[in-house]
Amino acid sequence: MSESRKPRAFQNARPLIFDLSHAGRVGYQVAPTPKEMPAVELPLALRRKQAPRLPEVSENLVVRHYTNLSVLNHHIDRDFYPLGSCTMKYNPKINDEIASHPGFAGLHPLQPAVTVQGALEVMHQLSVALAEFSGMDCVTLQPSAGAQGELTALLMFRAYHIKTGGKPRKRVIIPDSAHGTNPASIVIAGYEVMQLPSGEDGLVDVNALKKALDHDVAALMITNPNTLGLFESRVSEITKLVHDVGGLVYMDGANLNALLGISRPGDMGFDACHINLHKTFSTPHGGGGPGSGPVAVKAALEPFLPTPVLQTKDGKYGWDWERPDSIGHVHTFFGNFGIHVRALTYILSMGGDGLKSMSENAIINANYLRAKLSGVYEVAHDAPCMHEVILSGNRQKAKGVRTTDIAKRLLDYGFHPPTVYFPLIVPECLMIEPTESESKETLDEFVDVMLQINHEAEANPEILKNAPTTTPVRRLDEAAAARNLDIRYYK
Ligand SMILES: *Cc1c(COP(=O)(O)O)cnc(C)c1O
Repeated sequence: MSESRKPRAFQNARPLIFDLSHAGRVGYQVAPTPKEMPAVELPLALRRKQAPRLPEVSENLVVRHYTNLSVLNHHIDRDFYPLGSCTMKYNPKINDEIASHPGFAGLHPLQPAVTVQGALEVMHQLSVALAEFSGMDCVTLQPSAGAQGELTALLMFRAYHIKTGGKPRKRVIIPDSAHGTNPASIVIAGYEVMQLPSGEDGLVDVNALKKALDHDVAALMITNPNTLGLFESRVSEITKLVHDVGGLVYMDGANLNALLGISRPGDMGFDACHINLHKTFSTPHGGGGPGSGPVAVKAALEPFLPTPVLQTKDGKYGWDWERPDSIGHVHTFFGNFGIHVRALTYILSMGGDGLKSMSENAIINANYLRAKLSGVYEVAHDAPCMHEVILSGNRQKAKGVRTTDIAKRLLDYGFHPPTVYFPLIVPECLMIEPTESESKETLDEFVDVMLQINHEAEANPEILKNAPTTTPVRRLDEAAAARNLDIRYYK
């Protein structure tokens, strides 16, 4: 057991940098132009009509401003971040160092391919590695997130059905535990969503699936391990059933952190999957990107890949744009290249054995939390989990405290809360994903705090209902904060 953590002291928000501005104060010094150098005047048309409205401050104030800002929000470099489904693992700094190399960072996407052979080699090596990990034949690196990967694959499925069967088919089946991006992608790709209730055990109900399958089904889309943290043990049977009616099977690969070096979507019978580089392969996320969601597919889908496709010809890398069956471009240029560099750096520095132990440790850590917390918090399914554990705040709800209150109270202790109220089918859900990159000491600290919060729920529920009290901003009306977002500065 670790020494129990105390709630943090209240963190006062500091004044805005605009409010610290003093007319004439500067953060730089430029030597005066020597007399012998001719003065160069900017053409009138290029000159500003009015001075930019920037704060006038010294350099050290700018540095302090950003340093202080960086701890107002929670992030993985600050503390534990067990946000389920998001795989908020530590991002090794060597990834950034390599991506910042001028030979990568200074490239322009319109440079001729002959001048960027090294960059294309990075993309090639990454594609080969992702094809290998997923058990697929080819990869597009273009999509900039998992959600866009889903859409890309569904558009490819559509093109495949039209090419091979003359029509796109009508429906895509998803389980009721699916991530919200799945139905959204299905609708944008022009299909109807058909939702399947999960079985008692939290897995795909194979009998219900059999009843739902017919020749109008374009695809089945499932996550494995699923969003309940459980491995779909009948997955080979499931993919075969869909293939038997001519449908395709998509794996939402967001949970690949549980599988690397252990099992592969391609071997389970999936035709395509996306891979969230910003989850499994430790590139930064949380704050909106840039992410990367490459899609790996079996050979039958290769003609439909987005253009351009990376190819090798006479020992040189280049782009193939002449692809009549392609679904077209899904991202400007070739995807988020800086993220590709980071992911390949991570893969090469971990090595094959390292990646396997990564997944094993992610699974062990989640099961450790499950074992430590299941006495006090209800577990959604009484079975070993994969890389995340799904708890419920049902018992605490009976004492008048909701899961949202538990989540807000965790902020006071300096932890990011788990994902809450998802999957939708678990009432008062707490979805905890510790990842492999946390030590036993950190996990023990988190357990202590979760037990302490349960104690507070009994002894002093008002503390939870008023939480957070130590953060720069207290509890917000979240719907209003999202819908009436106001981040402009007014003097
Ligand atoms: C994160 C996630 C997605 C979406 O991925 P983004 O990269 O955020 O677009 C889809 N499905 C599941 C299960 C996820 O966890």
